[in-house]
Amino acid sequence: ADEVNILSGALQLAKKTVGNIMTLIEDVFMLDYNTLLDFDTMSVIMKQGYTRIPVYENDRNNIQALLNIKDLALLDPDDALPLKSVIDFYQHPVLKVFEDLKLDNMLKDFRQGDSHMAIVQRVNSEGEGDPFYEPIGVVTLEDVIEEIIQAEIIDE
Ligand code: ADP
Repeated sequence: ADEVNILSGALQLAKKTVGNIMTLIEDVFMLDYNTLLDFDTMSVIMKQGYTRIPVYENDRNNIQALLNIKDLALLDPDDALPLKSVIDFYQHPVLKVFEDLKLDNMLKDFRQGDSHMAIVQRVNSEGEGDPFYEPIGVVTLEDVIEEIIQAEIIDE
């Protein structure tokens, strides 16, 4: 029965990690800070259909901000504003978590309400240089809820 699934899903939250359920970074739609919000870019963003879009500076490993699709509602594509000015205006907090964070704790963070997306990162110490934080995925409240109800949520 559904209730049994939901109960076992909820009990699993303390065992699974964000690394187990994240969307892999190579599949994440992101934008560069220096993008101009002209008609073509706005069309691409709308076509992707995501509510939240990580924004990086120069390099996809360097995620600095989050764009919410709602931030674009009043923009005129003819103005071709730099994304940076929108980001600086709204200043949404970027939640970053490590891949071993358990889903019950992830849910607690999401319930704080500051952000319903987290960037999943790990320490990369493989190369010659200094260790650095490497983003490896994103996780949203919807991903966690899907684990609880043990079913895909079909998007509108
Ligand atoms: P949305 O509201 O944008 O549809 P959800 O929070 O409902 O996003 O998440 C739906 C799925 O899409 C989740 O698996 C989530 O990890 C993934 N997702 C969310 N934002 C992005 C993005 N910018 N790029 C790639 N995948 C994303």
